[in-house]
Amino acid sequence: MKGKTFIIAGPSGVGKGTITKELFARQKNLYFSVSATTRAPRPGEVDGVHYHFLSREEFQQWVQQDAFLEHAEYVGNCYGTPKKFVDEAMARGEDVILDIEIQGAEQVHRKRPEAIRIFIAPPSWEELEHRLIGRGTESLEKVRSRLARAKEEFSAAADYDYIVINNSLEQAVAELQAILLAEHCRPDERVNLINGIG
Ligand code: ADP
Ligand code: 5GP
Repeated sequence: MKGKTFIIAGPSGVGKGTITKELFARQKNLYFSVSATTRAPRPGEVDGVHYHFLSREEFQQWVQQDAFLEHAEYVGNCYGTPKKFVDEAMARGEDVILDIEIQGAEQVHRKRPEAIRIFIAPPSWEELEHRLIGRGTESLEKVRSRLARAKEEFSAAADYDYIVINNSLEQAVAELQAILLAEHCRPDERVNLINGIG
């Protein structure tokens, strides 16, 4: 059975990375799509594990080679999903998790409408600010740009297939697991299994 693609989108600092990490600790048969980016690595980030860190020129070469399923500019840097690895993982029967921002999510939705879109929201605006500042990975100026972007991102949430509110991490991960499980009970996947019964 071919795997499905799950798009995890939502404002910076909401906890997408944290939730995803916990999901991978609990569940097998998942593939995390390692994105390419022109952003500089944060302390502890490893090339090829957290991102493929590329120069602007290298990123443009990937674009020209049509290597991305989607790509977008976000707060001064480019980000993109390498297509090949996503397709290979799905062919192996693994579910693919894309942690991407909303312009990229929109592109994937247009190209592959069967991909499932999950919007991760914070319990409050204050908590989002608190998390983004508390993470301490961006300058205050970049934090402000990311928060400005978050305002736009919220307006897309109602179009998503699911909204998960990351208040308690435990509850958010449980909801994500429930969504994955439910999506595998859909008739497009199950109907062949019941053919000939009844
Ligand atoms: P994103 O990947 O969406 O940018 P992160 O996963 O890096 O966000 O999380 C941003 C910050 O919020 C991190 O410091 C993380 O530890 C914290 N965080 C994530 N989820 C929760 C939660 N449920 N409750 C409290 N803090 C959280
Ligand atoms: P960060 O710089 O905090 O790692 O990521 C910034 C934003 O870029 C986040 O919203 C993250 O989901 C998004 N992002 C990460 N990889 C990709 C990608 O391949 N494509 C797109 N469109 N966004 C991405």
